[in-house]
Amino acid sequence: MHVRRTVTALSAALALTAAGLVGASAANAVPPAQTAVTAHVATKQVVTKKRSTGRAARGARSARGGSFASQVQSTAASVAGQYGVAVAWVGTTSCGERGGVSRKVVTLRGCSTPGTNTIELSLGGGNPANTRVSRARVLAMTTAVTQHEVAHRLIERTTGTLFPVDRNENVADAYAVTYLGMDPALVSYGYVDADVATAVAIHG
Ligand SMILES: [Zn+2]
Repeated sequence: MHVRRTVTALSAALALTAAGLVGASAANAVPPAQTAVTAHVATKQVVTKKRSTGRAARGARSARGGSFASQVQSTAASVAGQYGVAVAWVGTTSCGERGGVSRKVVTLRGCSTPGTNTIELSLGGGNPANTRVSRARVLAMTTAVTQHEVAHRLIERTTGTLFPVDRNENVADAYAVTYLGMDPALVSYGYVDADVATAVAIHG
């Protein structure tokens, strides 16, 4: 059961549309301890993808023969595994949130709870093959949300707490961009210079 709510969990979310990134979105069930999620619109890239039934016809199979869902999962596992962090894919995270996959929008939610070596990711049980959002963008989003959650883990390892500062979410983004190579265009919360300075101070 992962439906329990906790005030000590931190989460991230990114949503992509077939037309581009729409940024992090506020969840309906935001834990009280969480800082406000801002709609951080980073890019307005237009994807000129032809209308096609090809993706549906191909189902979950990618050109390489493996399922795209497996590719998404292995991408997250690879990113997290570099830091000794495991990934659990869940329908609803311990933060009480669900990602989702629709034809035009893919939302990936991540959640970290204190004292574990596992991060949770959710596509709401949806199959990432079933969308017109480009696969490259889905994989980039998967990498970014994983990096954000891993940053929480690394900050916890260093400071002994998942919540060392008020701006935990912003500092996690700053930490992920500075030390994990996260794409700044795919941050979940956004950050300012002071958050980077905090991340640097934590990292040492
Ligand atoms: Zn977070």
